[in-house]
Amino acid sequence: MNASALPPARSTALSRLASESFDLLVVGGGIVGSGVARDAALRGLRVALVDQQDFAAGTSSRSTRLLHGGLRYLAQGEIGLVREASLEKKILHRIAPHLGQPLGFVFPAYRGEGPPLWQLRIGVKLYDLLCGGGNFEPSRGFSRDQTRALLPGLKADGLRGAVRYFDALTNDARLVLDTLRSAARHGAVLANHTRLTGANPVADGWECQLTPNDPSEAPFTLRARTLINATGPWADRMPHSSVQLRLTKGVHLVVDRHRLPVPDAVVVTEGKRILFVIPWGERVILGTTDTDYAGDPAAVATEPADIAYILRSVNEFFPTAALVPGDIISTWAGLRPLVANPDGSPSDISRAHEIRSPRPGWWDITGGKLTTYRLMAEQAVDAVARHLGRPPAPCRTALEPLLEPGAGTDGSGTLPGPCTRTAVAHQVRAEWACHLADVVVRRGGWCYYERDFAARLPEIAAWMGEVVGWDAARREREIADCRAELGWSAA
Ligand SMILES: Cc1cc2nc3c(=O)[nH]c(=O)nc-3n(C[C@H](O)[C@H](O)[C@H](O)COP(=O)(O)OP(=O)(O)OC[C@H]3O[C@@H](n4cnc5c(N)ncnc54)[C@H](O)[C@@H]3O)c2cc1C
Repeated sequence: MNASALPPARSTALSRLASESFDLLVVGGGIVGSGVARDAALRGLRVALVDQQDFAAGTSSRSTRLLHGGLRYLAQGEIGLVREASLEKKILHRIAPHLGQPLGFVFPAYRGEGPPLWQLRIGVKLYDLLCGGGNFEPSRGFSRDQTRALLPGLKADGLRGAVRYFDALTNDARLVLDTLRSAARHGAVLANHTRLTGANPVADGWECQLTPNDPSEAPFTLRARTLINATGPWADRMPHSSVQLRLTKGVHLVVDRHRLPVPDAVVVTEGKRILFVIPWGERVILGTTDTDYAGDPAAVATEPADIAYILRSVNEFFPTAALVPGDIISTWAGLRPLVANPDGSPSDISRAHEIRSPRPGWWDITGGKLTTYRLMAEQAVDAVARHLGRPPAPCRTALEPLLEPGAGTDGSGTLPGPCTRTAVAHQVRAEWACHLADVVVRRGGWCYYERDFAARLPEIAAWMGEVVGWDAARREREIADCRAELGWSAA
């Protein structure tokens, strides 16, 4: 049996992190850190990246999964932000078509409730224009009767008509993993389940203390000339950080699509907020909430009040569906790492990003969205390259496909791939999966899609155990940890 019961490639990565010196250490393997690592590696920098938990275990596996300009920010006058994100959504669709499935969004208009139809018609035309060279498909308007024919279950009372515009559906955790696969292919050295516990400035950069979570792996020191703090909701807890965050929680629910048979995504309003009903294969994703959060970022969870809010908001617009908590197949809760603005409601806080350097060779990168991660990374790596006095190597991430030509997607596009022994073994050998939850929650994502997936955990733990050499006690512990992470009660 493998002594540490962890994937064999991991010990090589840890010993390289401890023995080599790097141009850049990226702390945080969410989408922002992964994007930074890929960009820097593509420009020829020696890059290391660590995450205290699994890659994508923070906010980047808990989003609404949209590549979007953000239609609602137009109403807030944030035209620059919408244009920036709209251009990025087109770029991401180009470099990772398997992770950007164009999707129509129907936004119905009601008398005396939400934005009027005329405003929506102008808004979606402007939205198309801001994509530069056209959106995935042009937007259009629908009369009241057309809207009713399209969405028979939609509330008819006060309905004036609707518009349809286009964004794309992605798979957030898979976007992180494919970005990291590309970073590693270009030389980045990566370790998940390894926490940065300290960082001291030294003459030629930073000396960083790193502690793997597994007690069988020894803490070590890593030397890097520069460091990027890409720790999302944890960014203001890092040593030397200059960040002030305001965390807001967002919850999503998944229900069967036959309970809410929508051909396109639908936008529903709740006061000044909007929520989405998003078709996802045989399922529908409903969300999200937006409430201030002051607790431990690792403890964020779906509460009964979140479920009640989403069901109430959706049922108001789809009264015949009459969804109840028993319809829910899965839920997830995430934290928006927004740049602090103590005033205003959570939904009013800007989604703009910030890159700051509080000390020479250290950058904090915060805010932004999944959609804008590539641009955030480009700007951060530009700053790092300037600091290192490197000739300005051009950024290539807008052009280089995320997957190498001819590479399969391992069955993982925007829907979870089949849960097979081969898929699990691949995720352990080639995608850094160390624990059962790494496979089930992030790489496979089956737990959110399949009903009663808990029953499959012993079988998957056995498959994983074959690769890494888990005994029965370890398999039981992995199953218990996975259930706990998902908030599933003990078997
Ligand atoms: C509910 C919700 C819906 C959203 N929907 C969308 C959407 O549809 N489209 C969109 O574009 N954006 C969306 N967003 C925003 C988007 O998801 C986030 O902006 C993005 O995922 C943040 O990524 P990140 O890399 O900054 O943070 P994270 O993904 O949280 O990554 C930070 C990582 O740092 C690690 N870390 C922390 N401390 C340490 C340490 N000391 N040592 C090592 N590692 C550490 C953590 O473990 C974590 O993995 C949504 C956000 C939420 C919450």
